[in-house]
Amino acid sequence: MPPAADNQGRSLLEQLDTQPRVRAYLQRAVESHRTSHAYLFLGAPGSGKLDAAWALAQSLICENGGCGACEACVRVARRTHPDVRLLTPESATGYLIAQIRDLIEEVSLAPVRASRKVYILDRADQLRANTANALLKTLEEPPANVTFILLGTSADTILPTIVSRCQCVPFRLISPEAASQAVMRATGLPLERCRMAVAVAGSPGRATEFLKSVSRPEARRAMLHALDALAHADEADVLNEAKAVTLAVKAPLAEVKSTQEAILKRDEEFLSRGALKQIEDRNKRELTARERSGIMEVLACARSLVRDALVQLEGIPGEPVNADVEDIVARLATGLASPVRALHALEAVTAAERAIQRNVTPQLAFEVMLFDIRKALTCPS
Ligand SMILES: [Zn+2]
Repeated sequence: MPPAADNQGRSLLEQLDTQPRVRAYLQRAVESHRTSHAYLFLGAPGSGKLDAAWALAQSLICENGGCGACEACVRVARRTHPDVRLLTPESATGYLIAQIRDLIEEVSLAPVRASRKVYILDRADQLRANTANALLKTLEEPPANVTFILLGTSADTILPTIVSRCQCVPFRLISPEAASQAVMRATGLPLERCRMAVAVAGSPGRATEFLKSVSRPEARRAMLHALDALAHADEADVLNEAKAVTLAVKAPLAEVKSTQEAILKRDEEFLSRGALKQIEDRNKRELTARERSGIMEVLACARSLVRDALVQLEGIPGEPVNADVEDIVARLATGLASPVRALHALEAVTAAERAIQRNVTPQLAFEVMLFDIRKALTCPS
């Protein structure tokens, strides 16, 4: 797979080929050393805002403006650089005030390895009144070596006080096909696998990571297996399948945990006890956030499989997104037998996504979803 090897030494910013205007804009800013202290990346889900945020972070952290090859660049690309932090809302209702307080405290500390620090705040619309207010002053005048990158879908959904303190960067919508092509260029894998990964993971960057991971495709397989078994499953089988999916979702967390522990061990001697405690707390929160994104990812797998079955039932020609498991798609389509029942199955997936947002345990959410899809499969409507 030569294209993957070609990416060695290419910076993340150079690889951002689905958003050429954003790339050119950010490259100019980095090259002329005139980057803003706070950016707000705006665009629809899947437009690659998070990929671009990591890319900009790499260019800012690297001593050579993002060479793609040095240790700092590699660490940022692997999401293990201690001076680049990604924050996501930690409660179902948004960012916690404790999260923002920790952040503000941490911003004033010196970087651990690099000469700069970058904070990426996903879903800036989830910064509600009190958390946003706590952040405003820091956002307006961060220390000279700190850059904030906030991500959001549109300026309308973000508090104006936040928007006015940031340099807004609009992202254009990219089609799933363009995203799949980008993943193919990045990984060298066949287009149909890239299509599946984009459907599951969202953006080209996350799809590329998904394909490189060992455990995340395993979690997908567990979900596909669960759905495939439903037509002939009794209650105990459904519960077992839900359990298997839950375990498979948790497996990738072991990778994250061991990376966290390795970094902590390495930096132990440089850090005060207070800073260590703070990192441990943050690591725990990161695990929670990763678990949630893993759950959403397997639910996206379920959605895309049921959608493939629906497309087949509607008689729309073309390859399914899940071309690697065409037999499962066909069996599911046969079992569902009508578009209406396929829509019921899709509703069950949506309900599970909502349940996860409300902090229902993943196993329970999976169980309810699988029982509902089984109902769509077995009860004529
Ligand atoms: Zn570098």
